Amino acid sequence: MANQSRLCLMAVHAHPDDEVISTGGTYLRYADEGLSTVLVCATGGEEGEIHDPDLDPVEAQPRLAEIRAGELRCACRTLKIGTVEMLGYRDSGMAGTPANQNPSCFHQADLDEATARLVRLIRRYRPSVLVTYNSFGFYGHPDHIKAHQITHAAFDRAADPDFVPTPNLTPWQPLKLYETAISREGMRRWREVMRQQNPEEAANRNDDGFDPEKLGTPDEQITARIDVRRYLATRVEALRCHRTQIPADSFFFKPLPEGIGDEMFGFEEYVLARSLVKHPPKEDDLFAGIR
Ligand SMILES: [Zn+2]
Repeated sequence: MANQSRLCLMAVHAHPDDEVISTGGTYLRYADEGLSTVLVCATGGEEGEIHDPDLDPVEAQPRLAEIRAGELRCACRTLKIGTVEMLGYRDSGMAGTPANQNPSCFHQADLDEATARLVRLIRRYRPSVLVTYNSFGFYGHPDHIKAHQITHAAFDRAADPDFVPTPNLTPWQPLKLYETAISREGMRRWREVMRQQNPEEAANRNDDGFDPEKLGTPDEQITARIDVRRYLATRVEALRCHRTQIPADSFFFKPLPEGIGDEMFGFEEYVLARSLVKHPPKEDDLFAGIR
């Protein structure tokens, strides 16, 4: 049973590793402040690639969910996440792939049924703050988009006793809902610095997957910046847990360029999508107005 006297942060993510990439420092900060932290992970990440050099991809593929569950446990220990709940869906794969059609994938899940699963967890853990992605799922992945949809729906319905009767759990209303974001201006500067530092590598690299115009959020729309500079090393350590997903030569593991590294990676940014409390227009704490 959750300790109801403690404030709770619940982030709803799509795959193992997402918890580190967009919210790792935030989890560490609130764990250090003594708040309770919960991760809801929608899928097992079965469709991920396999970058771990110690694994034979063909042999490892059928048990990727099990491998990634182990990686997730490692990352959650490192991020001091109090509770991990799997929502139990299959990874839908990237948009347009056959995995999208698998009847047990998250993308195919009935919206009410998937929302009900999340509502039960909200009533059990009673988070004041929910976190998920924006309506584009940050980068268009069907599972990230679905996580956005069910989290918004659950924010509206968790307090409604007629939506999913839960005899042992009373309805609960979260107070704020945030969407993760990365500053578009920050991404532009970062890309520029990377190009200047490694012009050859930049010329050969396809960085379409890192397009600030598609993925970045204009600075004026960002409402909360969480300072996580003191957690950068721990967050990288948590990322190393996800051996199948993050190649050892990933830029995540390279030294950050002078100056811009801290600015780009030292803050986790959010857009406040819903709030039932008064709060400052620009926040440095997701619990502003609640405590
Ligand atoms: Zn993901």
